[in-house]
Amino acid sequence: MDIKFFLIKYSEIAVKGKNRHLFEDKLVSQIANRLHAVEGTFEVTKTAGRIYVEAKTAYDYEETVDALQHVYGIVGICPMLQVEDNGFADLCAQVTAFLRERYGEDNALTFKVMARRARKSYPMDSNEINAKVGEAVLDAFPNMRVNVHTPDIFVNVEIRERINIYTEVIKGAGGMPLGTNGKAMLLLSGGIDSPVAGYMVSKRGVYLDAVYFHAPPYTSERAKQKVVDLARQVARYSGPIQLHVINFTDIQLAIYDRCPHDELTIIMRRYMMIIAEALAKKNGALALITGESIGQVASQTMQSLTVTNEVCTMPVLRPLVAFDKQDIVELSEKIGTYETSILPYEDCCTIFVAKHPVTKPNLNVIKRSEEKLADVIDGLIREALETEEVIEVTP
Ligand code: ATP
Ligand code: MG
Repeated sequence: MDIKFFLIKYSEIAVKGKNRHLFEDKLVSQIANRLHAVEGTFEVTKTAGRIYVEAKTAYDYEETVDALQHVYGIVGICPMLQVEDNGFADLCAQVTAFLRERYGEDNALTFKVMARRARKSYPMDSNEINAKVGEAVLDAFPNMRVNVHTPDIFVNVEIRERINIYTEVIKGAGGMPLGTNGKAMLLLSGGIDSPVAGYMVSKRGVYLDAVYFHAPPYTSERAKQKVVDLARQVARYSGPIQLHVINFTDIQLAIYDRCPHDELTIIMRRYMMIIAEALAKKNGALALITGESIGQVASQTMQSLTVTNEVCTMPVLRPLVAFDKQDIVELSEKIGTYETSILPYEDCCTIFVAKHPVTKPNLNVIKRSEEKLADVIDGLIREALETEEVIEVTP
């Protein structure tokens, strides 16, 4: 018996109130999008508060489950048997056939039957179904036992127009379906943090654009390729990402030539934010996202974050702000970006970095230093924006 149906579970809390239809419709279309990339034909349907995926052709089970596990908004994926209602004896036969197929005749699992009767006209109530299906299972499997408190498996029987039978709930990605919360601009470097930050925000249903500040010839094509690779890995969750590559070399050189070297990083970070915000506005993104975390490096002390933030008018989302590095590393391993992030390619911050950067920058001092750029900076920013390279990154 091949699995032809998956029951898709989503968080009931998220769908309370008048956003329910929006949430469900986005989820259905995100599932359909994701399954396009999987071999086989699938139908995704929403009926009576349930979302189902039905395989219409042969398909690869592992690949399909993996694809579904990358769709935000899904909390559980239940491989399921769906049968017509041909009377109670037939239902018991279907349940035992399903269990035999999945767990074998000799399995020694403990179980509990969980009947739900959405169709109230069904001639038995839930308790009766639990008891009778339980008996049928005990009769069919000599080693299975009932355990109502901590069973190995729940045998779920949902009586609807048709009847759903399932035992397994595969964990989904959680979060909110993409497209339910607008779009944000991720400042994506080649490091460990920013891909994780992008993943976290996209998990709340936010589409991503990304910007990478490139400083050729000080940063190589390999360094840029690394960022494209990271964007692709994030895109497995977030869907396609438009990556804006900004040539930052002339701005960095100007800062390097004219400003105090212990302020290089903080001034550079401010111009990154200014350019990112301009790109965000142009592309319909409502916020910026960075991988900053309090105290991680000199440019991320509370004072530095405050000075960096001062140039922004949009909200800057910093989902890692209170995370320890080890927790960020673990998340990056989980989402599969870690191996790429630790590849040794130079990034523009490390090349122009001072030996002793300020850790408690003073906004007025920084602004005074920036005045030394006054005659060139607007032109340089305009040129950086006009010469952007846009890369469409798909999973
Ligand atoms: P990451 O691991 O994300 O590179 P980091 O710990 O190296 O972060 P910084 O280099 O101080 O921290 O950068 C802080 C944040 O600024 C990054 O998380 C990222 O969002 C953004 N950023 C830094 N460098 C770049 C760059 N070259 N292009 C785009 N964004 C950048
Ligand atoms: Mg970095």
